[in-house]
Amino acid sequence: MDIRDHIRSIPDFPKPGINFYDISTLLAEPDAWQVTMGRMAKVVGPYAPDVLVGVESRGFLVAAPLALKLGCGFVMARKSGKLPGATERYEYQLEYGSDVVEIQKDMIAPGQRVVVLDDLMATGGTAAAVCELAHRMGGEVVAVACIIELTFLNGRDRLDVPFHTVVQYA
Ligand code: IMP
Repeated sequence: MDIRDHIRSIPDFPKPGINFYDISTLLAEPDAWQVTMGRMAKVVGPYAPDVLVGVESRGFLVAAPLALKLGCGFVMARKSGKLPGATERYEYQLEYGSDVVEIQKDMIAPGQRVVVLDDLMATGGTAAAVCELAHRMGGEVVAVACIIELTFLNGRDRLDVPFHTVVQYA
């Protein structure tokens, strides 16, 4: 099955000139979503993770079912101020300004093997920031995986761990 047949692209979203790859149509098609999760499990499983960190918000949709499939924990990485209780924060630079990611303090134990998951990698800035946060919390980040990679943006160069995707757009 070509997963790309179930992903639609929406021009000029969220801004003019940006082509947004939308996985809503993939999520709505159970056979295609099952195949996608199966392929993701094949690349992530061999890392024997203790914890899958999903990046808000579509990364949750990837990491939560995969964690169930692989029998490991699921942890949320969220934007500033969304998680209750004590959190670890990491502020990172964007082209214009900065952004913050947070994970609840007790959600990653020192030495745990962590895989970071999202729906799509563009510039790689989000994934790199979440990796740094998980690392600062004592996790051993062993890989990053996304469904989609925009290869022409070379986001994978910002990571210092193995990176996997099941669909690429050049
Ligand atoms: P990056 O930090 O530039 O790699 O952007 C990746 C983040 O932005 C991920 O959390 C994605 O969910 C989101 N994102 C950027 N472009 C798209 C897109 O075309 N479709 C879906 N999500 C996108």
